[in-house]
Amino acid sequence: MYSGRTMANQGFERPLRVVQTNLQIKDTTKINPVELARQIDELGGNALVFNVGGIYAWYDTDVDHHTKNPYLPEDTNLLEEVIEECHDRDIEFIGRVDFSKANDDVYAHKPEWFARTPDGDAKTIGAERPGDWPILRFTCLNSAYRKDGVALPVIEEIISSFDVDGIFYNAPHYITCHCDTCKRKYEDHYGEPLPDETVKFHEDWAEQCVRDNMEPRYRFIKDLDPDVEMVLYYDHNGDDLPEHAAMSDLVCTESQNILSLGHSDLPERWKPAQTMKIGNTVEDGPDPIGIIHSSPGMDWRHTGLPPAEYEYWLSQIPANKGTIWHSLTGIPDTIVDDRLLEVVRDVNHKTEQIDPLMEDATSVAETVLLWDDSEEAHALFNGLIQQQFPFDLLLREQAELDRFREYDLVVVPADWEFDPQFVDDLCRFVDSGGRLLVEGGLPDDADRLFELLGVADNPDLGEDLVASYSRLEGTENPLQRGMEDTDLLPHRGPVAYCDPADGAETLLTLVPQWSPLEAVGKPPERASLHVSHTDIPMAIAGSTGRTLYLPFRLSSLISEYQIDDHYRLLENAIDHLLGDRRTVQATSKQGLQLTPFETENGYLLHLVNGTGDRPLKTTTPVSDIDVELSLEEGLDVTGVRSAFSGERLDFLQDDSQVSFTVPSVAVWEAIHVHCESRS
Ligand SMILES: [Zn+2]
Repeated sequence: MYSGRTMANQGFERPLRVVQTNLQIKDTTKINPVELARQIDELGGNALVFNVGGIYAWYDTDVDHHTKNPYLPEDTNLLEEVIEECHDRDIEFIGRVDFSKANDDVYAHKPEWFARTPDGDAKTIGAERPGDWPILRFTCLNSAYRKDGVALPVIEEIISSFDVDGIFYNAPHYITCHCDTCKRKYEDHYGEPLPDETVKFHEDWAEQCVRDNMEPRYRFIKDLDPDVEMVLYYDHNGDDLPEHAAMSDLVCTESQNILSLGHSDLPERWKPAQTMKIGNTVEDGPDPIGIIHSSPGMDWRHTGLPPAEYEYWLSQIPANKGTIWHSLTGIPDTIVDDRLLEVVRDVNHKTEQIDPLMEDATSVAETVLLWDDSEEAHALFNGLIQQQFPFDLLLREQAELDRFREYDLVVVPADWEFDPQFVDDLCRFVDSGGRLLVEGGLPDDADRLFELLGVADNPDLGEDLVASYSRLEGTENPLQRGMEDTDLLPHRGPVAYCDPADGAETLLTLVPQWSPLEAVGKPPERASLHVSHTDIPMAIAGSTGRTLYLPFRLSSLISEYQIDDHYRLLENAIDHLLGDRRTVQATSKQGLQLTPFETENGYLLHLVNGTGDRPLKTTTPVSDIDVELSLEEGLDVTGVRSAFSGERLDFLQDDSQVSFTVPSVAVWEAIHVHCESRS
């Protein structure tokens, strides 16, 4: 029954639905291996992440200074039984290790393994916790504890003693440390002393320390057993993703929905989609893993997220081709909030239904947004996802011609660094038919870029404008669609003043600031526009018809004001560039996400609905979503149905276009468009 694993660096050979039981040592005796495996199965999971080693050993360890869980039963081999029961039910077993902290008595024997403050004090955690807990201290990432002292012997012991299918490295991150080992390493590396203040560290120091620790760790695991898959975190904004993907088999990240931060600090409603789109930028990598904690914040980890909010949050992971990983506090028998288990079960069962379709699915997005984690990139993400655009991301180090060629349109956020190679790649991309949207200022003397975008000369960045507008020029302006009854769009912020080059077309112009803010309201008798029309471009269509340059930050307007006009301007700009190359169009619904994929026998379109004020109290279904999908040449649609309910939808195929109406989406719907090749 047990299906086994695949070659190194490929991840597991089947799609996983992972359940992680963050165990409490005091509940150890409540773990019944038979019951636990049955419950994971019943929850729809096919992989269990279970504590194995590090802070506590969940087995009889022979490694010195590896603290054994004091509540472990003496008469049985709990870990072995859990693994056996999982394998009997075809559930992969992933062992969680955490070498970031260790017990106080380890510190007594090996104080040199622990992280220090600049004053030389050992760093502790939870010293003030009520109850009979020994003090826990942070270990130093560069210390022997994380290498030959404890970590490597423990991993070797685990892999040689137990039939684990994977190792999950919890907390592999760097924490600031001023121990002598770190001081020596820093000085060797940079030729200067380790500064007391963290802000003065070399920028790559933290990542260097992680790399020095994890790279050998990965090789060590693969040398011991190439079939054991190693799971490593990546930063949810993608900073370290390419490197971490190269030193692990699978990458994971958390999309925490921390309601306990307070209503005004909620994460963006599309955060899980964003983290999975970032994870999917790794070429030919296995699907990224999206870890979702069931709780509304770690301080409330014994309760669950509100069910409507939780379901919406979880659904974004599989809908964006991520592997779902449920992080729970405890085992089903110790979890007191049954509502959360119900949501886990529902989402897993839906995921299981589409797994065969999604396994080899590829994105059909025609647009790629360049991602540098800037405010502008976040804002354009907002603009694209809220308008139901299919789009992917590319990280800075991936932003090159070969990757651009997978798409029809490249969107470049303001303040992106235009080095000569990048400009060259953009020129070649557009030369070969690609489309390009650029916003914000441009670098000085970038003549090739100016020529590409239809800009005559160096733009001069002006002051922060208020009380100003952009004006939609001419009749039948492609940027005006849906806004035919107005000519003016609100504007604030700086403009890169420039002139259009010969052959370029100005689609938007600036209506300059007519008043300082203090005088905009009073008196209205004096509210006439100072100058109602200028030739200063706010949108330039290049002479090729394949570029559009916005010499202002549309992104900032979208994120700051969230006014429909700005969303619509972005949508019109992209539609104008794409023409008939847009793969999918759907009725615009606020709060609805659309992610289309090509599958072995057609297409699968995910619709995820987060309509309503967050955190969502109830699900507000959206109805009658009209969808138009462009098909690959030579395909005939043979059926359109819900991949979950099986309900068949009426459809109309017109040449290489199919249209249908999705009657209703509660939280997550997946529509399978089944196609056959025309014979
Ligand atoms: Zn250190």
